[in-house]
Amino acid sequence: MATVTLGRTGIVAQKQAFGCLPIQRISKTEAVDLLRWAYDGGMNYFDTARAYTDSEEKVGAAFAGMRDKVYIATKTAAVTAEGMWEDLEQSLRMLQTDYIDVYQFHNPAFCPKPGGEDGLYDAALEAKKQGKIRHISITNHRLSVAHEAIDSGLYETLQFPYSYLAGPQEQELVDKCRAANMGFIAMKGLAGGLIQSGYAAAAFMEQQPDVLPIWGVQHGWELEQFLDCVKNPPVMTEEYREIIERDRKELAGDFCRGCGYCMPCPVGIEINNCARMSLMLRRAPTAGWLSPEYQAKMEKIKDCLHCGQCMKKCPYGLNTPHLLEQNYLDYQTYLKK
Ligand code: SF4
Ligand code: SF4
Repeated sequence: MATVTLGRTGIVAQKQAFGCLPIQRISKTEAVDLLRWAYDGGMNYFDTARAYTDSEEKVGAAFAGMRDKVYIATKTAAVTAEGMWEDLEQSLRMLQTDYIDVYQFHNPAFCPKPGGEDGLYDAALEAKKQGKIRHISITNHRLSVAHEAIDSGLYETLQFPYSYLAGPQEQELVDKCRAANMGFIAMKGLAGGLIQSGYAAAAFMEQQPDVLPIWGVQHGWELEQFLDCVKNPPVMTEEYREIIERDRKELAGDFCRGCGYCMPCPVGIEINNCARMSLMLRRAPTAGWLSPEYQAKMEKIKDCLHCGQCMKKCPYGLNTPHLLEQNYLDYQTYLKK
């Protein structure tokens, strides 16, 4: 079994980690079964967040009575110390535990530091002193905050979007984390659904020994492919190389990753799905994207005020309103087919 040591945390996690965002969409019984199946198949690192509605509760139910067998990472999106304490206590209750292994600030717009007015970092330090959290960490989608977090020396892990579609900027973060003895946790290893082959994605990650990918899993068939990778760590074959090359060519340049950090939009456009609709239609064909519900969502693009708020927030520097227009036109063509 391949493992990853998360920098100076000393945590040795099985290379295939479980992202617990999608289990919000299934029942508690189904989620508990899926999580236990993952554990029985060799997974030992589970990443959730206070913001993922009942995800923590499901993780807590799955691993009650066997807490020492798994690593649990969660996140707080609080912006004040008081909010962080509330979140932490609630996370501990939901997770049925008295400690969190990796406690992450959830995509803050700034890098919390000791003595900061927000009080977040000092609160996390105190929580660590009390034994309620073991490692102070951060997740982000902004390159600037990620660099600041690494350079500060204050964080033990960084979670950032990373897949075989990543560019040199993301690779630089991986390399900097390695040099700083910080763990690198990869979210969106399937690029928000754009990558279809879990095996090719896992084979790529295998070539990055310091990176811990957390795969968002909702269905048994998704889990099966990653449990296969636990048993037989995938090697980069010619077939996978071709898939990766083809995807890189097809998805080169500016494309929406679906992260949603440009939202909310003042007129309610669901940017994270609408700005990448053309790609989804081509790569993940499903009647769902052409349903009346999605047609209505795409129609909303016509209400765009061109206020530019989304562009300012997009970490990939996309011209989002333009991308939305392109996707709208493409969508109309699909509807006429
Ligand atoms: S530019 Fe359009 S899509 Fe972007 S936030 Fe403004 S209204 Fe929404
Ligand atoms: S436009 Fe940018 S911020 Fe918005 S969902 Fe797409 S990649 Fe994310």
